[in-house]
Amino acid sequence: MMFNRGHPNDFNTWAEITGDRSWRYENLMKYFKRTENYEGIYPSNQHGRGGPITVSLPKYVPLLNEWLGAGQFLGYPVADPNGPQGISFCPFEYSKRLGRRVSSYTGYLKPIFGSRLNLKVVLEAEARKIIFRGNQAVGVQFRSNTDGIPSDNVVFARKEVILSAGAIETPALLMKSGIGPKHVLEAARIRPVKHLNVGQNLQDHVAIQLDIVINNRSLAFLGERDWNPQTWKSYNEVGDGPYASYSGFGGQAFISTTGQGNQTNIPNIHLYHLGSPKISGLIEEMTHIQKAEWEVETPVFVELTNPSSRGSVTLNVTHINSSPLIDFKYFTNPADLDIMIDGMKMALNVFENTPQFKRLGARFPPNQYSACGRLKFRSGSYWKCHAKESAASFLHASGTCAMGSGEDDSLAVVDNKLRVIGVRGLRVVDASIMPTITNANIEAAVYVIAEKASDMILRQWRNARPNSWL
Ligand SMILES: Cc1cc2nc3c(=O)[nH]c(=O)nc-3n(C[C@H](O)[C@H](O)[C@H](O)COP(=O)(O)OP(=O)(O)OC[C@H]3O[C@@H](n4cnc5c(N)ncnc54)[C@H](O)[C@@H]3O)c2cc1C
Repeated sequence: MMFNRGHPNDFNTWAEITGDRSWRYENLMKYFKRTENYEGIYPSNQHGRGGPITVSLPKYVPLLNEWLGAGQFLGYPVADPNGPQGISFCPFEYSKRLGRRVSSYTGYLKPIFGSRLNLKVVLEAEARKIIFRGNQAVGVQFRSNTDGIPSDNVVFARKEVILSAGAIETPALLMKSGIGPKHVLEAARIRPVKHLNVGQNLQDHVAIQLDIVINNRSLAFLGERDWNPQTWKSYNEVGDGPYASYSGFGGQAFISTTGQGNQTNIPNIHLYHLGSPKISGLIEEMTHIQKAEWEVETPVFVELTNPSSRGSVTLNVTHINSSPLIDFKYFTNPADLDIMIDGMKMALNVFENTPQFKRLGARFPPNQYSACGRLKFRSGSYWKCHAKESAASFLHASGTCAMGSGEDDSLAVVDNKLRVIGVRGLRVVDASIMPTITNANIEAAVYVIAEKASDMILRQWRNARPNSWL
């Protein structure tokens, strides 16, 4: 996966919200480093080695040189995406080793699978409810499906229950267990354990797509040409080449619509450049552009890094065990759309006003979305239409069990140690605890949350009695 830590300011904001300086970027550095087995090219003092997640820079990246050169032409530095991030153009680093994904399973779990007496993993199991005795979480009800036979089971916790079901399922599970907004629990007729604003504060990265075309097919990735027996062999032998480039995203940029060039250091737009006409055909399905046979698409995605709009996850109150209801509410704060449109114009500038892309005849064809065809091309209403038509989730749901300063913080669901507020023995460790989303792909931040949580949990229980919960 694309691996980006985020901007130091993201974590410093968490420290401000919680009043706990241990969440500041510089204090999280040991966890960033502990996560990583860094194989990239940037200075080693910023990176960790020997950690479970290999972070590497692919060698085969179509149009990356043009992308970085264009950024430099416009006055941006080319920088380490996982150093202390600032306004810059960068290559994408990936959580990959020898061209293959390194996941939390392959990095953390697989190496110790079967060898730890204190770890039992039940596959094909779905947690259905947290069991409380008073306000103490004492266990979890789950449904398993061993050998195709469903059965309901319970596990009890001697110390604490840790929920890590992600930003959609964790809030749903809390609400089903009696922790949630009063109106939701009442409507679903769930006995309340604690009223908290669970499921509110949903954040995500919404991105819009600009389909650029260039007249040089030899520089871009083309599946019918570049996926072949030779490149398959090189993928298997050295783990690189077109088969290792899962998404085609090669170049990225962190830019700001509020300052020129690199004058302000906090980006509000993240650009993803694709040196390929397709991500598994997705782009071709989504847009309808007129292009000549010698032209090829090289799209750029414009992502809003720190949206002001907030969505929600809630229960389907008439069928609480069916899928939760998700409403991202993208662009409900009009400022988000304004920033996005400025970001789109800045992205186009990279292609239309730099020698690197002018040389390749880069152009932005009209009428990419039929719904916008009647509007004057590039007018204010056109940009709004284009943004809304192409807006898509970049799948970074977060924030639905927000970490905060404690009981008096009306938005907070967990405290600075990720303990669910107002109950005992229950902690949340996943993307749902982010009070504000980080400004890039969030996987790296989730690893850091988990690494920090593991330290906090060990520290809490080292000398404590089993039923103590501070
Ligand atoms: C298609 C896709 C591509 C992505 N690409 C990138 C990328 O390139 N870079 C990046 O940084 N981020 C990427 N992300 C985002 C990233 O994967 C998530 O933000 C991250 O995994 C969130 O971690 P988490 O631990 O909060 O939740 P998850 O990783 O979702 O983990 C939650 C786990 O809980 C399990 N679970 C849920 N409910 C229950 C239940 N009731 N009982 C038992 N188990 C349950 C789920 O099966 C899952 O295994 C991508 C996401 C998607 C969907």
